[in-house]
Amino acid sequence: MDEVGLTVPPDAGAVSAAELRERVGQHLVFSIGRGATAARLADWRLALSYAIRDRIVVPWFQTAERINAADRKRVYYLSMEFLIGRLLDDAVANLGLESAAREAMAGLGVDYDALVRDEPDAALGNGGLGRLAACFLDSMSAVGVAGLGYGIRYDHGLFRQSFEAGWQAEEAEDWLAQPHPWEFERPEASFPIGFGGSVGPGAGDAGAWHPAETVIAVAYDTPVPGWQGRWVNTLRLWSAKPTREFELQAFNRGDFLGAATPAVLAETISRVLYPDDSTPQGRELRLKQEYFFTAASIRDILQRFERRHGDLAALPDKVAIQLNDTHPAIAGPELIRLLVDERGLAFDAAFDIARGCLHYTNHTLLPEALERWPAELLGRVLPCHLEIVERIDARHARESAAAGRPSDDGTAILGDGEVRMGTLAFVAARRVNGVSALHTRLMQETVFGGLHALHPERIVNQTNGVTPRRWLHGCNPPLRALLQEAIGDGWVADLDRLEALVPLADDAAFRERFAAAKRANKVRLAPWLAEQAGIELAPETLLDVQIKRFHEYKRQLLNLLETVALWNAMRQAPEVDWTPRVKVFGGKAAPGYRMAKLIIKLINDVARTVNDDPAVRGRLQVAFPPNYNVSMAERLIPAADLSEQISTAGLEASGTGNMKLALNGALTVGTLDGANVEIRDRVGEENIFIFGLTAEEVARRRAEGYAPAACIAASPRLAEAVEQIASGRFSPDEPERFRAIVEDLRGHDRFLVCADFEAYWQRQRAIDAAWRDRAAWTRSAVLNVARCGWFSSDRAIRGYAKEIWNAETEF
Ligand SMILES: *Cc1c(COP(=O)(O)O)cnc(C)c1O
Repeated sequence: MDEVGLTVPPDAGAVSAAELRERVGQHLVFSIGRGATAARLADWRLALSYAIRDRIVVPWFQTAERINAADRKRVYYLSMEFLIGRLLDDAVANLGLESAAREAMAGLGVDYDALVRDEPDAALGNGGLGRLAACFLDSMSAVGVAGLGYGIRYDHGLFRQSFEAGWQAEEAEDWLAQPHPWEFERPEASFPIGFGGSVGPGAGDAGAWHPAETVIAVAYDTPVPGWQGRWVNTLRLWSAKPTREFELQAFNRGDFLGAATPAVLAETISRVLYPDDSTPQGRELRLKQEYFFTAASIRDILQRFERRHGDLAALPDKVAIQLNDTHPAIAGPELIRLLVDERGLAFDAAFDIARGCLHYTNHTLLPEALERWPAELLGRVLPCHLEIVERIDARHARESAAAGRPSDDGTAILGDGEVRMGTLAFVAARRVNGVSALHTRLMQETVFGGLHALHPERIVNQTNGVTPRRWLHGCNPPLRALLQEAIGDGWVADLDRLEALVPLADDAAFRERFAAAKRANKVRLAPWLAEQAGIELAPETLLDVQIKRFHEYKRQLLNLLETVALWNAMRQAPEVDWTPRVKVFGGKAAPGYRMAKLIIKLINDVARTVNDDPAVRGRLQVAFPPNYNVSMAERLIPAADLSEQISTAGLEASGTGNMKLALNGALTVGTLDGANVEIRDRVGEENIFIFGLTAEEVARRRAEGYAPAACIAASPRLAEAVEQIASGRFSPDEPERFRAIVEDLRGHDRFLVCADFEAYWQRQRAIDAAWRDRAAWTRSAVLNVARCGWFSSDRAIRGYAKEIWNAETEF
């Protein structure tokens, strides 16, 4: 840095409001090209973002220097999705520049909060899996792991959801329509990525591959500042560009259309995020996306290693690669291919090196969500990789046989004409992890049972976590201020310190202030909820939220049936002093998921009916603000009183929404599923509302031949609600509209909504009663906050570093 004459402040966060203001003014003029009088909100936002980014760049260089000087083991997190959200406020808070930024902007006559809200969400992910990757990036910088995230720079992130007459409509998302101030384009960091073609005899023993088409992967780097800016990692996203030479050759031949073809393929690859959550897309373009970003990342990793090290056998000592789900599972075959075909290693040596570096996180046990590719398709798009997969499978079969296992134990990678990506990822990984204690146990007992018997040390658990910077410090200023006064701010980097709140749960004055913070969040939320969903939220109302992707296993339908039954009960007994509730639903359905979209329409139809009914006015309202995303989560979570985590037990791998809500003092109503089990273990049975069948009971009920009709017949409330939906009570213009839902509930009910309904109803009435003892409720809420520090993603990252990556943490 010295050589370019930059003076580097020792503490990059130390900048006065006056200095920052001057820098913002300079960026406005010289980076944006606009004067103060003509500047729009977005111009000011970009100018401030550049001024903040300036404070990150030097610590970024310094981090790289420290990693290089110590030759630290590097951790590469490969994820098809990063659900990041907004970056400005997060960067400002991480650098400790909140008051400086506010003051600087106020001095320029601009409202800082309006600027923050002007930033579009970076929505390069669908839901939990992508948000986990974003939390892990933040935590890798917070604890000082030499980490780097790899993904795809989609031109269009997750679609924008709106409602048209209550039906979900999707619009293209356009986050790059304005300049994205946080990234640096790195045209020099680019790799050609091939597809198709043929495999001939070559230097290595796997044969040399001659791809038919090639695109260029170009890197875009975003610095990821950790807490207090003391460590800054990188998120490297790949964008696909056409190959120049190819274009030119076709052009010179006068083949103008042919010249455009590679451009079309190239730009298609990183154009759009697949909007499916929990159901893989068996489409060729998806496979190309997966290979595209994985291949570019692996080449980048090898290149960085080889700049400093000679012996490839040392790769596992210097490199840990984490595969977030199976989407990058082709990393195994690709790494082997590069080692064999381009470096001349023998297959077995290459396999051992690859397996020494790779680790795989499983996110689901739902059979339909496990990724498989037709072998024919894989062979067409990646012919060389299919051959390598066959060799990996043969080696795996030999290991199985040597261990005395039957050859037909269902653990083959190739079977029924398909490549099972979960099995491939398992076989080529040193460690495989589940994301909650229950999920890991179920992995060992069910889907990965055979592989677990063969490699009993391989499956380990790392329960998910969430970053306390965004999900408490950033989103909940009233509670942050109270915590600061009560226990200081050490909890931001060490969330276990929230335990110091435990004794304060019995302090009436503290509880009052805690309740006041929750109330302040609701008051802050109310105008937005009124505008978005036409709902009046009084601060004394119980705010009940279910915010997450729409999927039948998450059972928004169970919540809705309870809403209908509650509406009926209130109408039938108006004299009762009912606990007033606002039920909030938020979430998107995959555009092709018909049942989930029908459930969205039903919620909107029920909401209209209930909200228009004077008989329940002030007692029950249903809100469904459209376009749930990270920013909406940040608004709703601090205000929530009740967190709905009601999936069919055994099907939610972990959940992270459950952690965010508990950490912000919402009590959970939930099944013993995913991390709910561990939340209960920590907050205590008396501070959470658990109901319903356990995973074992679900399996047993199914094995016995579950018949929902009997459950409906046994519950008059449920029967009435189902009958109302069936008879068009909520859809008088089209009484048959919800027939598919009703038929499924009465006939099949794969997710056991009816079996759990009565237990859920009873628990909800216990919640109504508990809400009336506000001192006791608040005591429970305080204990939830106090005892959920363990759900920090810092704890999760330390666990991965120690038990999986064998990598150091700086802090
Ligand atoms: C945390 C989060 C999720 C995951 O929620 P779950 O309830 O764990 O499914 C999904 N989407 C967004 C925007 C989130 O912030």
